Amino acid sequence: MNDHTFSPESQMMSFGYKPELSEGSIKCPIFQTSTFCFKKAEDGKAFFEVAYGKREKNADEELGLIYSRLNNPNLQITENRLSLWDGAEDAAIFESGMGAISSMLMEFTKPGDLVLYSMPVYGGTDHFITKVLPKFGIQSIGVTPFEDKTAVLEKLEKSGMKDKLSFIYLETPANPTNSLVDIGMFREIADQIKSEEQPIYIGVDNTYMGPVWQHPLQLGADMVIYSATKYIGGHSDLVAGACLGSAELMKRVKGFRTFMGNMAGPHTGWLLMRSLETLKIRMEKQALNAELVAQFLNDHPKVEKVYYLGNLKESDGRQYEIFKKQCLSNGAMISFDIKGGEKAAFRFLNAMKLIKLAVSLGSTESLAEHPATMTHSDVDYDLRQAMSITEKMVRISIGVEDAKDIIWDINQALEKV
Ligand SMILES: *Cc1c(COP(=O)(O)O)cnc(C)c1O
Repeated sequence: MNDHTFSPESQMMSFGYKPELSEGSIKCPIFQTSTFCFKKAEDGKAFFEVAYGKREKNADEELGLIYSRLNNPNLQITENRLSLWDGAEDAAIFESGMGAISSMLMEFTKPGDLVLYSMPVYGGTDHFITKVLPKFGIQSIGVTPFEDKTAVLEKLEKSGMKDKLSFIYLETPANPTNSLVDIGMFREIADQIKSEEQPIYIGVDNTYMGPVWQHPLQLGADMVIYSATKYIGGHSDLVAGACLGSAELMKRVKGFRTFMGNMAGPHTGWLLMRSLETLKIRMEKQALNAELVAQFLNDHPKVEKVYYLGNLKESDGRQYEIFKKQCLSNGAMISFDIKGGEKAAFRFLNAMKLIKLAVSLGSTESLAEHPATMTHSDVDYDLRQAMSITEKMVRISIGVEDAKDIIWDINQALEKV
């Protein structure tokens, strides 16, 4: 009876927080402070030795806090709680998803290296990999969900940079098409190519699924990253990001973060703590709603195609196999092609009454947008066409409203098309 382990959702209200250190307050207060008092100089010395990696922490040592760019209770407790969902050893919270993505990529690559990435990726990530990394002498190669192991290896061989590969960056399901890539396949590729001098790390953007519906660390990834602005924050009232993985890798990520100074502030950490308490119940409701919305869209005469994980069938072959292997839910993100192109898509978006016309996703309210001219407008045109991100596509993030109201709204807006 004593070896019971609580589920993550049962621990989100209490894990890592000691009320006795905060006047018994049931909730963790906001530690809105820049710096922390040391009891004595020897303590300050000891805390810095460990924080700057000069020595390992002793087994029985209780480390204190130093300065809010290095650590803060609102960040540390949130990091500990977030780690539970993915079974990660540690996490690093950033002031945005892009902060987490850029810091992870910068920490694990150096000039001359090659990054392999799945396409499409989030517009900001695409920009960072293809336009910012080259300034630091880091090249990249993109691969589509249609390329299998042999095709990817051939592509690497042809590039003449195979031995320079140091990072594989994956986004699955991909925004906005819900296309999937096989994390395990990229693990095999990494293990086949890596060497003593050139380790290869795999990072997966799990924003679309998580952290409840997919666990990349258990599927072969070294690190998982989130735009915590989306499901984790879940209320459209904050911007944040996270990177999770082994203690060893997170030490490096946090070290980099200390000097980039892009950690989240105490207030963001506190808001995330509030959000984590309802994470699972929100996501479950969103997935249930999405199923009903997808059913409605599937049968609508003005809708040409629906991009929804729940629509995958055995006849979809590899996409279906990857889905079965990696995803625990159909998710709550739906894209669909409206007959009539951009004009029809815009008419639909402008006619919505309940659903808000905005980018971002994973929030309590349903949001819709037009990827080709908004979130993905910066992605190369030909690539967009090849990936089905065309003028007729609308993306909807399903919220926690009553499903019949969401469907009513979609129905009346489609009538105006
Ligand atoms: C929003 C988003 C990001 C970027 O996160 P920010 O918090 O906006 O910096 C990265 N990846 C995906 C899949 C996203 O949806």
